[in-house]
Amino acid sequence: MSGKRTENGTAVRAMPFASGFRVASPFGNRVDPITGEPGSWHGGVDLVDLDGDRSVRAAAGGTVLRSRIVTDPADRTSEWGHYLSVAGDDGFTVYYCHLESRSAAAGERVEAGQVIGVEGSTGRSTGIHLHFEVRDGAGNQTDPCAYLGIPNEVGYIRTPEGTGDRDNGIRTACLAEAHDWSREAVGWAVDRGILRGRGNGDPALGEPVTREEVCVMLMRAAEKT
Ligand SMILES: [Zn+2]
Repeated sequence: MSGKRTENGTAVRAMPFASGFRVASPFGNRVDPITGEPGSWHGGVDLVDLDGDRSVRAAAGGTVLRSRIVTDPADRTSEWGHYLSVAGDDGFTVYYCHLESRSAAAGERVEAGQVIGVEGSTGRSTGIHLHFEVRDGAGNQTDPCAYLGIPNEVGYIRTPEGTGDRDNGIRTACLAEAHDWSREAVGWAVDRGILRGRGNGDPALGEPVTREEVCVMLMRAAEKT
């Protein structure tokens, strides 16, 4: 393996969001967020920025292979909306998908931590997030969380550069996903601890809720208001 290395031999990597993010959907088998089908394969991990800036950074230095959107539905990469793939110095190719906009072109050299686009919800997506996918030199999908050095589970990751507190991050993330008509109510529910954002037994905004989840939120509302 070639490429930039730190003194202890590990590749130089940056978190895709500067100050923190929510792991909304891990890598591996899951319930399909659109069809509800269980056991559907998720080839990457879904990350949601927490500070509201939504700038997506390259996880490793390398060369941009593709920077595009495919609109032909017969081509499965149309599901990714605006996406970039970067062939990294570390031998892995990383995909950044569902972007609102892209700020690096194919053939361009990018460094770890460089902003390459803005998180969005283009393609097959139910809300603003980054689908982050990693493939090894043979083209096989590999655990992107292991690549970033974080647990492959729903939860919150605060990066060393992070500033804001976690509760404020949840508020920002929820409001970023909320429609205009629901924003006041969502902020009200988050402020009172009734809605905590996905990762605490709550669904993501925009997902169907079960009766159990409604009961939990009603109980919290009765206790806290
Ligand atoms: Zn995904």
